[in-house]
Amino acid sequence: MTVRVRIAPSPTGNLHIGTARTAVFNWLFAHHHGGKFILRIEDTDLERSRPEYTENILAGLRWLGLNWDEGPFFQSQRLDLYKTAVQKLLAQGLAYRCYTTPEELEALREAQKAKGEAPRYDNRHRNLTPEQEAAFQAEGRSFVIRFKIDDDREIVWNDLVRDKMVWRGSDLGGDMVIARASADGIGQPLYNFVVVVDDIDMQITHVIRGEDHIANTAKQILLYEALGAEAPIFAHSPLILNMDGRKLSKRDGVTSISDFQKMGFTAEALVNYMTLLGWSPPDSTQEIFTLEAAAKEFSFERVNKAGAKFDWAKLDWLNSQYIHNMPVEKL
Ligand code: GLU
Repeated sequence: MTVRVRIAPSPTGNLHIGTARTAVFNWLFAHHHGGKFILRIEDTDLERSRPEYTENILAGLRWLGLNWDEGPFFQSQRLDLYKTAVQKLLAQGLAYRCYTTPEELEALREAQKAKGEAPRYDNRHRNLTPEQEAAFQAEGRSFVIRFKIDDDREIVWNDLVRDKMVWRGSDLGGDMVIARASADGIGQPLYNFVVVVDDIDMQITHVIRGEDHIANTAKQILLYEALGAEAPIFAHSPLILNMDGRKLSKRDGVTSISDFQKMGFTAEALVNYMTLLGWSPPDSTQEIFTLEAAAKEFSFERVNKAGAKFDWAKLDWLNSQYIHNMPVEKL
């Protein structure tokens, strides 16, 4: 089996350190196994996606030396593929049109809140008759496409970082929206759905991404099954935390690769630092690595489950090592 991995950034901001570290782990894993690293730009969110962010992401990956073997593929150019897959699920009765209005959903949420329950869709339009559908359409209601998730389904996978993961269908918030409607039928498809259609189409063998996607993975495994495909192997890497132990966010100041670049960090030091954010080499005294050298040693067995604290002092130290050893013309 040829290893095929990908990163799939959304161009809704500059290349973020978290995405770049995910790219590093994917790159290392692909190179360790002589596999392929694929780049896919997830630009289905038309309102928030911007071409300048795509440019920033591509430039940042190139600057870091994280060259890709295939792509970039753009989801905005692949809508026909997603619509065909939605049709397939509708035809098989695995998905349906839901006409619940935003006001009805809000009322449902309020009622659940009053009872101290977690918000979830109550699957009320799962079994509409053609007459009921026609009546909703006559009222001028629009619809979304929902994928059926049975509450008593058990979802199990062996995560390369977190070992055995067990979820229940009832943890997933009811039947999930996979596409919105448009005037001519199926409209914008949503993240959890397109990501699965793409990962099947691109023959991705391992999905390596941040642990903030774990609940998505549980949903996506059900979609692989519904689309008749085998799910890939998953590895959820630990989040990057600030020194207070909270998820690193914009509030912590510098978080995008182009900002680190502007501050004068070298690409080699930054990529070296990201390699060590959550992974430790078999020889734990070794701290200075090229990507190629790290790829030789890389495995998920040595990726921590706990979050990785972002340590400026360590990055500064690594940077000074690279600056002192760099030929003058590169400074
Ligand atoms: N577009 C998603 C993100 O940027 C991709 C997640 C994934 O790798 O599936 O978080």
